[in-house]
Amino acid sequence: MTTPLLGQMMDVPLNVSSLLAHAARHFGATEIVSRRIEGDVHRYTYRDCEQRAKQLAQALIALGVQPGERIATLAWCGYRHLEAYYGTAGFGAVCHTINPRLFTDQIAYIINHADDSYVLFDITFAALVDSLAPQCPKVRGWIALTDEAHLPQMDTPVLCYETLLAAQDGAYDWPVLDERSASYLCYTSGTTGNPKGALYSHRSTVLHAFGASMPDAMSFSSSDSVLPVVPMFHVNAWGIPHAAPLGGTRLVFPGKDLDGKSLYELIESERVTCTAGVPTVWLGLLTYMKQAGVRFSSLNRMVVGGSACPPAMLRIFQEDYGVRVIHAWGMTEMSPLGTLATLSWEQAQRTPDEQRKLREKQGHVIFGVDMKIVDAEGRDLPWDGVAFGDLHVRGPWVIDRYFRKDDSPLVDGWFPTGDVATIDKDGFLNITDRSKDVIKSGGEWISSIEVENVAIAHPAVAEAACIACSHPKWTERPLLVVVKRKDAQVTREELLAFYQGKVAKWWIPDDVVFVDELPHTATGKLQKLRLREMFRDHVLPGAVERAV
Ligand code: ADP
Repeated sequence: MTTPLLGQMMDVPLNVSSLLAHAARHFGATEIVSRRIEGDVHRYTYRDCEQRAKQLAQALIALGVQPGERIATLAWCGYRHLEAYYGTAGFGAVCHTINPRLFTDQIAYIINHADDSYVLFDITFAALVDSLAPQCPKVRGWIALTDEAHLPQMDTPVLCYETLLAAQDGAYDWPVLDERSASYLCYTSGTTGNPKGALYSHRSTVLHAFGASMPDAMSFSSSDSVLPVVPMFHVNAWGIPHAAPLGGTRLVFPGKDLDGKSLYELIESERVTCTAGVPTVWLGLLTYMKQAGVRFSSLNRMVVGGSACPPAMLRIFQEDYGVRVIHAWGMTEMSPLGTLATLSWEQAQRTPDEQRKLREKQGHVIFGVDMKIVDAEGRDLPWDGVAFGDLHVRGPWVIDRYFRKDDSPLVDGWFPTGDVATIDKDGFLNITDRSKDVIKSGGEWISSIEVENVAIAHPAVAEAACIACSHPKWTERPLLVVVKRKDAQVTREELLAFYQGKVAKWWIPDDVVFVDELPHTATGKLQKLRLREMFRDHVLPGAVERAV
């Protein structure tokens, strides 16, 4: 065998500290604005941020934290959380962001499983920390992200973040780390079983930041002002805390108030150009804007993902409010970005209707992610926009193994996402379901997401979930569970009639049930498992007769 001729370029490891160092040096005066838990608005710059991240690194090292140790956060989007992102991973510790909306027992499980040595928390979570502390005896210290004046009354002895930082001078050089060493740890929501940890590396985080910044992805630049509404405890806020410093992008953090009015006011007062979040928060924003009769003056695009963006929402933002909606798909195991629906020059020449249909899908992959759909035997399915299959992915920011689990989740080197999808000839992905949510009617599959999208387009419907209900003849048939808009009226028959001509006849639900609210997971996704349990004994009209 001949020896390969090796390239002769520098082997500089990809380290996350370089992202913040770049912003501090080249965009040092660019602002980071945060609505604080204390109630006011805080402003400083990337230069200040790096300085304080270094002080945090020094403080943690002084507390005896070693590289590789996990440091957890329980915090909203804010500047101190950003300092925690870099002041931990920057010196080789692992930043473990925890979703505070999970059940207390689940959080305790996660902290113990990750073996976190310190936990940094926003003071809104003081009571939560008091109930967690007795269950997490291995945590060496709980650090309140505030100053002495705002320290809450607590049962747990805590350290004060600002006091720890004040004891350090920030004269610290980020060490050069092996790029394969761990950077961030995020647990999946755990809708089934215990949450599982996805442990990112410096290399995967930096490459994902490059990918997320690309022109056909979130395309952050130094002329943008970006508001991450997706929390920093949810898959690293989709990579925004890394992509923003890479692009020298101004950051606006919303803190804990994510209601329509608070978000609208922040977008306007901070001249935000781009934002990102899940459909539920945008529903709140739309409702507020409609009621208040207000419009955007600076926002030009928004990234919507985490669950399917209802076509009706996409149309309203785009056509009524002039904001470009970028539908995106990803998951914790993918750091999270996989695909985004932006149109090529050629696609933008098609009819408005064809363009709209493309935008409603989850889009094309970003360079770095490879995808395929396969049948039950693992055979590749065609990219014709019709064939449904299990979606598999691979790439340098896709998970290889779960943290502290020996068995590999991979199939032939690909990660099975658990999503069911079609891919069309444009390479546009369309997620039709989670594999466990797909409705199998007489051996054929019905996409619950498409059935829901039709219902949500009805003016009287606020939210809808479509679940499988057992049926003696067809095995499963769709049941639609609906929350009506306040003061709106619609009957079961009117809703079912609304489906005529919009989906295949056999996709029309067999029944409609109205409820006051739908169950959601801690990340705002519909909890279909719970819904299926709630309606396990529901008898569909016709099901009894057909059974005999
Ligand atoms: P995130 O919510 O940040 O994407 P999670 O790991 O919590 O990450 O959830 C990932 C799952 O969410 C995906 O596997 C998919 O089922 C669903 N999901 C994410 N984005 C979309 C989308 N745009 N459309 C439909 N489902 C989505």
